[in-house]
Amino acid sequence: MSRPTCAHIDLDALRHNLAAIRLRTPASRVMAVVKADGYGHGLERVARALTSADAFGVAALADAQRLRAAGLNQRIVLLSGFDEPADLPLLRHLAVDTVIHHPSQLAMLDALDAGTPIRCWLKLDTGMHRLGIPAADAAAVAARLRALSVVDPELVLMTHFSRSDEFGEEATPAQIACFESACQGIAGARSLANSAAVLGWPAAHADWVRPGGALYGISVVDGRSGADFGLRPAMRLCTRLIAVNRIRAGEPVGYGARFTCPEDMAVGVAAIGYGDGYPRHVPSGTPVLVNGQRVPLIGRVSMDLMTLDLRRQPDAQVGDPVQLWGPELPVEEVAAAAGTIGYELTCSITRRVQFIEG
Ligand SMILES: *Cc1c(COP(=O)(O)O)cnc(C)c1O
Repeated sequence: MSRPTCAHIDLDALRHNLAAIRLRTPASRVMAVVKADGYGHGLERVARALTSADAFGVAALADAQRLRAAGLNQRIVLLSGFDEPADLPLLRHLAVDTVIHHPSQLAMLDALDAGTPIRCWLKLDTGMHRLGIPAADAAAVAARLRALSVVDPELVLMTHFSRSDEFGEEATPAQIACFESACQGIAGARSLANSAAVLGWPAAHADWVRPGGALYGISVVDGRSGADFGLRPAMRLCTRLIAVNRIRAGEPVGYGARFTCPEDMAVGVAAIGYGDGYPRHVPSGTPVLVNGQRVPLIGRVSMDLMTLDLRRQPDAQVGDPVQLWGPELPVEEVAAAAGTIGYELTCSITRRVQFIEG
């Protein structure tokens, strides 16, 4: 039998989530962020399910190439911008918009041969201090861009939030205010909101929203899953039990003997491990579903396998279904046990996992 480890991708959930985002942001256009292979769900698969998005956001030109090769002709925005002159002819050829976040890019545009103008999104730093030109320079840089014949006159002004997942926090209103004041008098559409801002900061919706995680049904808001916002998880990660063993009281289980059986008990072995992208460092007790019921993971996760406490599932058998995350077990909960966010878990699924869409 082939390895039973599968990531089921629910295309209806993706479409539902886009519709839910549109309901929350009726006056905005939606850029579906599909970087990192669609947050691990599969770039082309996600984009084909979301053809009604107004644009796609990618982090790499290679992803834009893949989208065009798949026949997708929506607007595409290269969120990290180009970083060498050779990227520019490719941007033109693929008709991809670029983010401008640094003066070094202006010099490259200046040196570009005349030709089809490139559409630019001018990214302002309003407090994140990662990518973006200082907000105070917005008008000057916008004027320099508009003076270049290789730049399309339609400019979009954008910024990115550092703490929009913290709904009561003052940092986001401060970033919104900084952005609005920096943009005053500059023509062009505005874009601020990532998923958390779509969900929690209506004042940031503006002309374009840029959700990623919310499309996949994943929340990064502490203690809240996508379902709490009416979103549906798009990924269900599943495998099966390939062994059920009775282990005696006092006996250890797995590498490093990290778990000792407190009584004679059934221990299940599921065909999934960190070689599939399941996080190795989750503690014993992390929930896993066997036959739809929660059981605790025990001992160390290994490359191909994990061990489960089946005391609550005494009748479980070889072949029984195991769910690692999905609609019945939020990825956010597993991520919290792993000390990370759901995005990292879905992005980390490896190539040996079979993807099934439906
Ligand atoms: C990744 C990214 C987003 C999407 O963030 P989510 O939290 O997944 O919604 C939006 N804007 C930019 C610039 C990004 O890099």
